Amino acid sequence: EPMITLRDVTKIYHVKSAVGGAVHALDGINLEISKGSIHGIVGQSGAGKSTLIRCLTALEQPTSGSITVDGQEMTELNETQLRQARRNIGMVFQAANLLDSRTAAGNVAYPLYLAGVPRGKRHEQVMNLLELVGLKDRASSYPSQLSGGQKQRVGIARGLATNPPVLLCDEPTSALDQETTRQVLHLIRDLRDSLGVTVIIITHEMAVVREICDSVTLLEHGKIIQSGTVEDILMQP
Ligand code: ADP
Ligand code: ADP
Repeated sequence: EPMITLRDVTKIYHVKSAVGGAVHALDGINLEISKGSIHGIVGQSGAGKSTLIRCLTALEQPTSGSITVDGQEMTELNETQLRQARRNIGMVFQAANLLDSRTAAGNVAYPLYLAGVPRGKRHEQVMNLLELVGLKDRASSYPSQLSGGQKQRVGIARGLATNPPVLLCDEPTSALDQETTRQVLHLIRDLRDSLGVTVIIITHEMAVVREICDSVTLLEHGKIIQSGTVEDILMQP
């Protein structure tokens, strides 16, 4: 059963330049991502990964085509519905992107605050989330007092704060060394196993895909050049 479905998704940017014309950042994308799977999206710089993320999170609308997340069409929503729909996708960023002025707990609490969860309830959920990522004892630490791997754990807890059905991880390990990368990826897999969350990992590294993905899509110049199980894709000559 798909958690995310893209049908003929195209995004065209009109650019003013000497050569002029239109950039097909996404060009006829058809993709299904199964519930509870870990799906990798791999492509070089300029392949269309960021555009895909912005369309999935409805920060931008595709030029044509349809996107559904957890059964909800993302391309025909009003502002109120959009805010609601965006909560279905938790985001994890490269190098964690934490607010330096807030503690680990404060960072995890932030999406709950935005969602209007009252303070007392927030506190309880924050501690549960930090426990989930193994950082309960660092609740009061500031990002500057945490290692790269710990910061990304906080970023993951924050991404999961509103209990979204989808966790979208944008280059989650590209700032980390090899061993920390492995630990963070294994945490993501454990969370998928225990929470059943559907995970999308955007990366330019096949090693990340090999480590934890079930399925993978290779993107080039806005088009899917291959998509399937990791076994099938990696078996190719
Ligand atoms: P990636 O994230 O894989 O590096 P992007 O989605 O950022 O790829 O970009 C895909 C293509 O779309 C590139 O050719 C890029 O220059 C172009 N592009 C992306 N965003 C814009 C924009 N806002 N305006 C014009 N062109 C854009
Ligand atoms: P403030 O407490 O001023 O709103 P913070 O960013 O420090 O700003 O905290 C935001 C939320 O994070 C708090 O409402 C609380 O629920 C939670 N929080 C902050 N620090 C801790 C902590 N040490 N342990 C547990 N929860 C905390």
